[in-house]
Amino acid sequence: MAPTYLKKASMTAQSGSSDVQKTVQTILSDIESGGEEKALEYAAKFDKYAGNILLTEEEISAASALVSDQVKADIRFAHDNVKRFAEAQKSTIGDVEIEVVPGLTAGQKVIPVDAVGCYVPGGRYSHIASAIMTVTTAKVAGCKHIMACSPPRPDVGINPAIIYAAHVCGADSIMAIGGVQGIAAMTFGLFDQPKANILVGPGNQFVAEAKRILYGRVGIDMVAGPTDSLILADASADAHIVATDLVSQAEHGYNSPVWLVTDDRKLADNVMAMVPGMIDDLPPVNRDSALAAWRDYAEVALCADREEMASVSDIYAPEHLTVQAEDLPWWLDRLTSYGSLFLGEETTVAFGDKASGTNHVLPTSGAATYTGGLSVHKYMKIVTWQQATREGARPVAEATARISRLEGMEGHARSADVRLAKYFPDQRFD
Ligand code: NAD
Repeated sequence: MAPTYLKKASMTAQSGSSDVQKTVQTILSDIESGGEEKALEYAAKFDKYAGNILLTEEEISAASALVSDQVKADIRFAHDNVKRFAEAQKSTIGDVEIEVVPGLTAGQKVIPVDAVGCYVPGGRYSHIASAIMTVTTAKVAGCKHIMACSPPRPDVGINPAIIYAAHVCGADSIMAIGGVQGIAAMTFGLFDQPKANILVGPGNQFVAEAKRILYGRVGIDMVAGPTDSLILADASADAHIVATDLVSQAEHGYNSPVWLVTDDRKLADNVMAMVPGMIDDLPPVNRDSALAAWRDYAEVALCADREEMASVSDIYAPEHLTVQAEDLPWWLDRLTSYGSLFLGEETTVAFGDKASGTNHVLPTSGAATYTGGLSVHKYMKIVTWQQATREGARPVAEATARISRLEGMEGHARSADVRLAKYFPDQRFD
């Protein structure tokens, strides 16, 4: 049975329009050929900024001095939680060594990438938490050089709390440059920086498109679209909290979908009645985004039972998934597609977004069907090695020669033959 939609979206989130692709490609090509001069031109054009790009130690100290003690303590609290979680994740992967056949040993090594470029968005909101999420995790992974960049405000530069957060979490350098020009600076090694091996962090459609185009010559965490969130709620849920949580995620942007999936008609009606008033009550900048997101992108689905709710949720594969329902262990066991799961009323997506320790860089637009979010593992290469004795090489060389000839790859076969001939000169191999 299909759910009944009490509210259906009139728009669907799309990224990478051909106009955006063209704009981004032009900026990247200009900066690749024109270097720092072109990057500065774009910083002036898009962010009305003509200040220093690579922050000096004095600038970092001066910015930190502007941050209140309470905010510093909050940033350190969030950093400690993200660090603790990333360290636990790191402990789940490690080096491996086994004897595959007698005399042939193979292994894996886990090696952190050298240079990381962390994009910290700063257009609409000052995403302090994105600095904490990306830089801390890279530091725990053991990356040698961690760069952070963020869009400067016209004339005044990056929000001081972002600078403090990036610094305290372990960034080796901080650049006041955003958008495509920020991504280009980290990829092409401008402003005395090494070229990034991997780019991480959320950003708007221009940032996401730049990462998509550059993928291959540089690694990326993911191509992120607009933030999306789904709440699964049954009759036990508090309608006021459900409505508040939906509105809190709709403020991300005009095209950030929020979805409610329930098996209780009364709860759905109550939530739908409360949301418009809550949106109206937000400050103007948040209200405009939340209003458009709720009007054009939100959906409310009424299901027959919890099994159908779970199936519907797995099809959405939301970035953020909240369960406000009875029997939380059942949901944890049953649900399979989400970026991050928030179980019970006592937790909420905003906790994970800011300070609880799990990473907030998560798969959007259904990508949770095939991937999780940013973790310490994204900064680590799992590479393999092998070593054999002459006896260990023998059965592998024989099989290799035969398989290679079947494939028509005579050169491969001969690299096996030459060893058999050298190590076992008195024997014949067919
Ligand atoms: P941003 O830093 O991503 O983008 C600002 C930059 O966009 C500017 O520096 C400017 O250079 C560039 N730009 C703006 N207009 C342009 C144009 N016409 N052409 C070329 N470049 C242009 O900040 P934002 O815009 O506020 O977007 C932040 C995004 O990050 C949001 O979509 C938000 O939802 C997302 N986000 C996601 C998460 C997550 O974990 N999923 C967390 C935080 C933020």
